[in-house]
Amino acid sequence: MTSIEIKISKILENGISFSCQMCGDCCRGFDEGEVYLYNDDIFRLADYLNLSGMEELRDFAKKYVKVINDSFFWKNPEAQQGKTYRFKTLGFRFTGEDEHCHFLKDNMCSVHEHRPFQCQSFPFWKMMVSNRKIFENYTKKCQGLQKLEGKYYSREEILDWAKREYEIEKNYFLEMKKHKFNILKVYPFLPKEMLQEGE
Ligand code: SF4
Ligand code: SF4
Repeated sequence: MTSIEIKISKILENGISFSCQMCGDCCRGFDEGEVYLYNDDIFRLADYLNLSGMEELRDFAKKYVKVINDSFFWKNPEAQQGKTYRFKTLGFRFTGEDEHCHFLKDNMCSVHEHRPFQCQSFPFWKMMVSNRKIFENYTKKCQGLQKLEGKYYSREEILDWAKREYEIEKNYFLEMKKHKFNILKVYPFLPKEMLQEGE
């Protein structure tokens, strides 16, 4: 069960065909945008990379992860009004002059089966699904969206991706809220000095 209704943009009402053309363009050039990482993403990757224990997770965080700012609109069921909360979350650190993801090798994702949900769910992020302008902006940068061929995604499937994204963000927000927005309580392996980066 999901807790919100997501508006779907008219251009997606009848579904679309989409297949990644593997150009790697969305895995580099992160002067704008981030790859957000949530709990499951980190532990799935850590498992795949055979990392265990605090020390190994700490080294993983230092090499691949950075602290970034995030926000979430939330209204308590009993409250009259909601508000936007601002807090810290994690995202991939990038590398090289072209600011690429560490896991991009020869234009391919070297952790494809274990990649973060944000990578899996493109191009059906909530903000893209519900906003035509944002969808069109991403289309300019993505060959798969320009071609619109390959696997067909129905309206329901598109909405399902967007709702799953919302649920992941909401669950992280609620976890942070429970811990008074102290990210070290949620990710105890995080080196304290990394917190300064997200200031
Ligand atoms: S920009 Fe589009 S086509 Fe290129 S790798 Fe990303 S999703 Fe695939
Ligand atoms: S994890 Fe894979 S799909 Fe995601 S940004 Fe990195 S290389 Fe691209």
